[in-house]
Amino acid sequence: MAVTEAGSELTYCKMRGIVGVLAAFIKERKMGLNDFIQKLVSTPNICQHADVTNFLKIDENLEELDGLEDDEGPSHHMSRLESRTSLAEETQIKPCDFDYLKIIGKGSFGKVLLARHKETGQYYAVKVLQKKIIMKKKEQKHIMAERSVLMKNIKHPFLVGLHYSFQTTEKLYFVLDYVNGGELFYHLQRERVFLECRARFYAGEIASALGYLHDLHIVYRDLKPENILLDSLGHIVLTDFGLCKEGVEPNDTTTTFCGTPEYLAPEVLQKQAYDRTVDWWCLGCVLYEMLYGLPPFYSRNTSEMYNNILNKAPVLKPNVSNAGREILEGLLQKDRTKRLGAKEDFLELKFHSFFSPINWDDLMARRITPPFAPAVSGPTDLKHFDPEFTLLPVTSSLCNTDSLCITNSVKEAAGAFPGFSYGPPAELYFM
Ligand code: AMP
Repeated sequence: MAVTEAGSELTYCKMRGIVGVLAAFIKERKMGLNDFIQKLVSTPNICQHADVTNFLKIDENLEELDGLEDDEGPSHHMSRLESRTSLAEETQIKPCDFDYLKIIGKGSFGKVLLARHKETGQYYAVKVLQKKIIMKKKEQKHIMAERSVLMKNIKHPFLVGLHYSFQTTEKLYFVLDYVNGGELFYHLQRERVFLECRARFYAGEIASALGYLHDLHIVYRDLKPENILLDSLGHIVLTDFGLCKEGVEPNDTTTTFCGTPEYLAPEVLQKQAYDRTVDWWCLGCVLYEMLYGLPPFYSRNTSEMYNNILNKAPVLKPNVSNAGREILEGLLQKDRTKRLGAKEDFLELKFHSFFSPINWDDLMARRITPPFAPAVSGPTDLKHFDPEFTLLPVTSSLCNTDSLCITNSVKEAAGAFPGFSYGPPAELYFM
């Protein structure tokens, strides 16, 4: 802009005035735009429209996630929900929107709490992970994988659903379905073994969930007792997608940190390439433990247990039916190319004689009455959770100044977890 000598001061003042007016105008438009975008993203039909997608430049965000989940399968399986990633960074959901009632579990990177949404009164399980610990273990990729897997699978009857994910400067939050029938193995410990028909029901529901994941090119890899929960009716719910996926080093002294190593498949233990058949090995371990009361290669001496996993055949005592022993033999095959499920995946299990009493359509539709009802009196009933956790005090740090950062400088808070935050359209979940 040309500024004349004579009137430079005046022109400068004028310019400042103009800039001020412009800045106010831009600010107003920006706020309007934010409101507009919020409305857009909370209206699924509009969000699907090609013009809107282009306008929001959703694809750019997908590329970012692609890189993060390269070992989780092709990115074209990402759902529409995931596409809203970077916009969800602006989601208004924050830690203080919830009352944290009880600690219900502890994982590798943080804890899981029973929480109630203040406005709706709805109960959720909120998984809170410490970024510092994740960064130390270089696990960001897996956490992002867990998030994206959770979002892909919210519709499967036996996989936990994710409602929100958000972050503060120090923590990541997953807001999940609250599943209060207790860990499957909490019940197994109390009863030592399950009758074959009960074990078949659980194994069938788990297998259908794993088959579904495989169809989405996702390998669960980390099936272990503490990740298998029962809902209030007694159906299976698998949780924890993505943590400790690389398993445990044989001479790692912090093995308890990553959960139980009993279910490690030989190929994982040997750090060889693995594929979806690793999940069928783990299912074999779960089924074995349900039927015999101990993991298949168990030894109190960890290195002996690793040796058993690699070199010993599982002991299959005759108190289990022929079909039961046969399927265990197939699933616990050390050579993954010969393992049951290696060729046609879930279909091979589905048509195995062990599962012949199961009507798979009924199972998928949750029409099979569970063989055991956890008998919970309501969502706050914690009788199936370990008092070791539920009696722990809930710290106030979940809702302190850290949480303010989410609204003030969400982009900086994102750090190594860009695009983590996620909020579905309000009408989907908070009715
Ligand atoms: P994770 O970090 O996912 O392994 O969770 C640790 C423990 O918290 C689990 O073993 C469960 O006992 C509990 N937990 C995890 N997710 C849920 C959930 N959605 N509902 C209830 N309890 C859960």
